[in-house]
Amino acid sequence: MSEDNKELTTENGQGAAGDRKFATKLIHFGAEIDEQTGASSVPIYQASTFHHHDIFNPPQYDYSRSGNPTRQALEDYIALLEGGNRGFAFASGMAAISTTFLLLSAGDHVIVTEDVYGGTYRLLTSILNRLGIESTFVDMTDFAAVQAALLPNTKAVFMETPSNPTLKITNIAETTAWAKEHGLLTMLDNTFMTPYHQRPIEHGVDIVLHSATKFLGGHSDVLAGLAVTADEALGKRLKVLQNGMGTVLSAQESWLLMRGMKTLQTRMEQSERSARKLAEWLSQDSRVSKVYYPGLEGHPGREVHERQSLGYGAVVSFDAGSGEKAKALLSKVRIPLVAVSLGAVESILSYPAMMSHAAMPREVRLERGITDGLVRYSVGLEDIDDLIADLDQALNG
Ligand SMILES: *Cc1c(COP(=O)(O)O)cnc(C)c1O
Repeated sequence: MSEDNKELTTENGQGAAGDRKFATKLIHFGAEIDEQTGASSVPIYQASTFHHHDIFNPPQYDYSRSGNPTRQALEDYIALLEGGNRGFAFASGMAAISTTFLLLSAGDHVIVTEDVYGGTYRLLTSILNRLGIESTFVDMTDFAAVQAALLPNTKAVFMETPSNPTLKITNIAETTAWAKEHGLLTMLDNTFMTPYHQRPIEHGVDIVLHSATKFLGGHSDVLAGLAVTADEALGKRLKVLQNGMGTVLSAQESWLLMRGMKTLQTRMEQSERSARKLAEWLSQDSRVSKVYYPGLEGHPGREVHERQSLGYGAVVSFDAGSGEKAKALLSKVRIPLVAVSLGAVESILSYPAMMSHAAMPREVRLERGITDGLVRYSVGLEDIDDLIADLDQALNG
């Protein structure tokens, strides 16, 4: 009996649970009550292997790399939230993204959002390029530029919208319609929006990816990645890769992630409300030279974003004027964590030039608008008045 390709999953996003509102799905996702005991949370199946009670009738789960009931509950949960066919949980966001890119083969070409997450850029330009997978980085706010990047060997389009950290907007439906005409696979990194604010499968995307380390986990205490496929054929192919690469998420981490996800809507609502206020306040402040937030009037692509998303998210980027000023600000703030990462209960201030985008050559970085003065503020659940007062004193540095 093979550990590969075993059908462990059920159809998601449809049926009774699929008709409910998002907030209800977050709490009642199917596995929230343990069938055997009635326990109010998914059991953590801390087991690597499963006994074959009857050798002629193999168990549903046989080895935890290939399938684990706790991980399966999480995988069904994210598939339900994204409205997809099948979910997959990985050891990190990069494990999800790198495993998914292996749907491509040597000789294939992929069109990628220009200011894509730094780790995705590094994966494409220092690892996948060696394996013969080529990539072209394109400013996807310009649809003509996306079309112009098409090569005879193009097989896929990888989007990140809003992009990181300048929050540029890609028109998802326009891009996926064009990609379908050309038989291209479409992938979208939905980390910044989460399925609460944006459900890319509804706009034609084939595979949605997440660093669940961020808003989905939400507490800066779990590293995880998720993928959701729109249809079963792709789901089967990704299952082979997840099992074959062994890039799976552990049962403990799967449980912890589900624990965090239950409060996603409440956290996103409050953080977004605060982020809007922070962006407005920053945009009136003469000490700041530029503010990036999709909810600000005049943000490029705002109308496109509003058509495809239900909110603006909780990440605000701004230019403190220079590298010196940005560093002074980072050493003077007292409330946010100064760190890589985002999307947590605590606010997190990060400095892309020296943190998330440090792997990117300076010229490339500047070309992509990631200046030396750019800082990224991920708004947490603290009182917004305190956050603004803190930033105000720090900007005086
Ligand atoms: C953090 C992040 C990733 C990578 O996820 P990890 O969990 O750190 O591996 C990918 N994409 C985006 C947009 C991210 O913010």
